[in-house]
Amino acid sequence: MATLGIPANTIAVLQKYNFNFQKKFGQNFLIDTHVLDKIIASAEVGKDDCVLEIGPGIGTMTQYLAENAREVVAVEIDKALIPILEDTLSEYDNVTVINEDILKVDINKIVEEKNNGQPIKVVANLPYYITTPIIMGLFESHVPLKSITIMVQKEVADRMQVGPGTKDYGALSLAVQYYAKPEIVANVPPNCFMPRPNVGSAVIRLTRYEKPPVEVEDEKYMFSIIRASFNQRRKTLINGLLNAGNLGITKEDILEVLEEMGLSATVRGEALTLEQFADLSNKLNQKKK
Ligand code: SAM
Repeated sequence: MATLGIPANTIAVLQKYNFNFQKKFGQNFLIDTHVLDKIIASAEVGKDDCVLEIGPGIGTMTQYLAENAREVVAVEIDKALIPILEDTLSEYDNVTVINEDILKVDINKIVEEKNNGQPIKVVANLPYYITTPIIMGLFESHVPLKSITIMVQKEVADRMQVGPGTKDYGALSLAVQYYAKPEIVANVPPNCFMPRPNVGSAVIRLTRYEKPPVEVEDEKYMFSIIRASFNQRRKTLINGLLNAGNLGITKEDILEVLEEMGLSATVRGEALTLEQFADLSNKLNQKKK
């Protein structure tokens, strides 16, 4: 099978199977071999690796992964793509295609079966409509991971990297930076895809920390606090936390903790660093009823 990264070969496969793009599944297939090479190199995929690919499409990147990795598991929601993948991946015996929604698959079970529970790498050109739930799901369900190398919307890649004081800073930035070191490895223009998306894209590599950079007594509680703080942007942190209604703390508790931390009673959530959210959540956790 000829490489699908070349537009003419992708078009030939699409025509052979009379494939119709499904907008609702965020289908923008890669048609640029340089970008594919860059993704594989940034993910440092080698013969020891078991790789999970989310949304293989017609198998363009899957072929590259199969060439370079020991084992590849590709999860694709669109059943119309399954016979195409059987065809384009027929030369490889180290690829398993699963026809499922990635948000419903038990990834921990896949890691257990395919890699003896040892950390895997995730490599994907993600469907943009569910970027955040996919990333949060991978981190929060504690899937054993070495790294996640993904194509996302440029704006979302930026959001993962920034700190307080920027408009893009939010719950996603904090979650990513708690679990991993983010690094944008390539900017990718719309003409590298078929059909072309309306937005610019970027490849970002998230390298999982063995130990998070801050100490947190109760991770779930910290993320409830972070979500509550960003639910109401441009409002004070106190209002955000009180309006959440499920944190088990009073206004007096919060005021006391803010004072202890040397923060003003009118501080906003978007001004706090990850270290400060960790400190805040550890202190509030002590007062929780
Ligand atoms: N990897 C291919 C490539 O680079 O050419 C396709 C990437 S395309 C941006 C996203 C792929 O994810 C599509 O094949 C789409 O059908 C699939 N997809 C969308 N939602 C999904 C879901 N919930 N679970 C699994 N795959 C999904």
